[in-house]
Amino acid sequence: MASVRFERVTKKFGEFVAVHDFDLEIRDKEFLVLLGPSGCGKTTTMRMVAGLEEATSGDIYIDADRINDVLPKYRDVAMVFQSYALYPHLTVEDNIGYPLKIRKVPPEEYKRRVSEVARRVELDTMLKRLPKELSGGQRQRVALARAIVRTPRVFLMDEPLSNLDAKLRTQMRAELKHLQHELQVTTIYVTHDQIEAMTLANRVAVMNKGVIEQLGTPREIYNDPRTLFVAGFIGSPSMNLIPGEVKDGVFESAGLRVGGAGRVTIPRAVLGVRPEDALVTAADDAQANLVAPIYSVELTGENTLVSLQLGGRLMTLRADKNFAGQIDQPAGVKIARDRMFLFDADTERRVD
Ligand code: ATP
Repeated sequence: MASVRFERVTKKFGEFVAVHDFDLEIRDKEFLVLLGPSGCGKTTTMRMVAGLEEATSGDIYIDADRINDVLPKYRDVAMVFQSYALYPHLTVEDNIGYPLKIRKVPPEEYKRRVSEVARRVELDTMLKRLPKELSGGQRQRVALARAIVRTPRVFLMDEPLSNLDAKLRTQMRAELKHLQHELQVTTIYVTHDQIEAMTLANRVAVMNKGVIEQLGTPREIYNDPRTLFVAGFIGSPSMNLIPGEVKDGVFESAGLRVGGAGRVTIPRAVLGVRPEDALVTAADDAQANLVAPIYSVELTGENTLVSLQLGGRLMTLRADKNFAGQIDQPAGVKIARDRMFLFDADTERRVD
């Protein structure tokens, strides 16, 4: 059993505040993802749990133990770094088994556990190799195997899949998800990849500039983004964010008109529409909220991404894979009222 709790944690590097007044509880057995762009403070947050950075103020707990002053080796956490951090002079076998060796696990059990995890990450044929004789993806799997060879109170994973090619990343993502299901160890996972966050997390903390913008399940974050930042960060392709004006509940911008936002008036507003939440129709469709020329058509296999020229910007929508429209032809767009988001451009918060 292990929960991790941050209470009003701030980390400064000189005058620079990397993590600001951070409050977060990661529940026992939870897979929590810290998601955000480069430099938002996610790695620093995780390194404070590992004991590799010291909090400037505030308290960090694992269960009831305040760990701020506990040496890293006594925290019982296992960390997987973005930069593998393998021992170059040790074989794959000895790298994986290292945490067992320093805990003086008897040789037979050592062998058994190392070969078991090696099989799991498909390295069982490479146990005698040195790290320099492995590909980047294989090294990353050694690092992962080393973390899971014993059961710590908490796993800390810092972009563990970022150096793998797309196919292996998808495969390892599924493997991680399965492992979590099996091992049931509290995990904090850092990434800037929103697909990884959405697929792996029980809850996601979206970070921006050292603070949490929103904390919730992947579904909540996707369906109910509270700020412009979260709205733009989650989803692929990302949400269309169109600046305009709302008068008496009607949003208007460059030929686009969508009503139904109550009776609100927002002089500087942003309309958010996800590519999958609008329908591309014929230009003469009487119910279209907008008619605009097609700028590009990209077939992705399962569907087609259609970008329309809207004022000086593009609006990208997901259409059927058999979409037949051509570049420069006009197309209509129907936006589902219950799937549009309105933000106040000044506060950057959602208003509807
Ligand atoms: P990335 O995805 O690029 O790793 P991140 O969100 O993990 O980004 P952090 O590594 O936590 O970001 O860094 C947060 C901020 O703190 C960055 O602006 C970084 O430049 C700064 N920072 C991190 N470590 C130090 C340090 N040792 N000294 C000074 N500034 C630092």
